[in-house]
Amino acid sequence: MRGELFWVIVGVAVVAISIAVVYLTFVFTKARRVGTKGIVQRSHLRCPKCEREFDYDWIPGASLTSVRLGPDRYMACPLCGKWSMFNVYAGLVARPSSERATAPPAGPSS
Ligand SMILES: [Zn+2]
Repeated sequence: MRGELFWVIVGVAVVAISIAVVYLTFVFTKARRVGTKGIVQRSHLRCPKCEREFDYDWIPGASLTSVRLGPDRYMACPLCGKWSMFNVYAGLVARPSSERATAPPAGPSS
């Protein structure tokens, strides 16, 4: 009986990993092929700490490397590694204008 349980767990794990690999492959290949038109969004962000700009790809509703706080994300800058608040919606680029209309207005914070 113990052996059966072991193989059930192995089977479930294999299926789960397969789904994860397929999903991630789908997300990354889609992001590369269609740019920002898929579920992956791209924002052009400016780091307040090092003042350098970079493109940040993210998936609405999912975040593995950042803390979500409404439209803002608290995450580490890929250039300097320091954690800052980034408004990914304000920095959205290359999205259809119909979708952009629902985004909050992006104004320079002075
Ligand atoms: Zn930085």
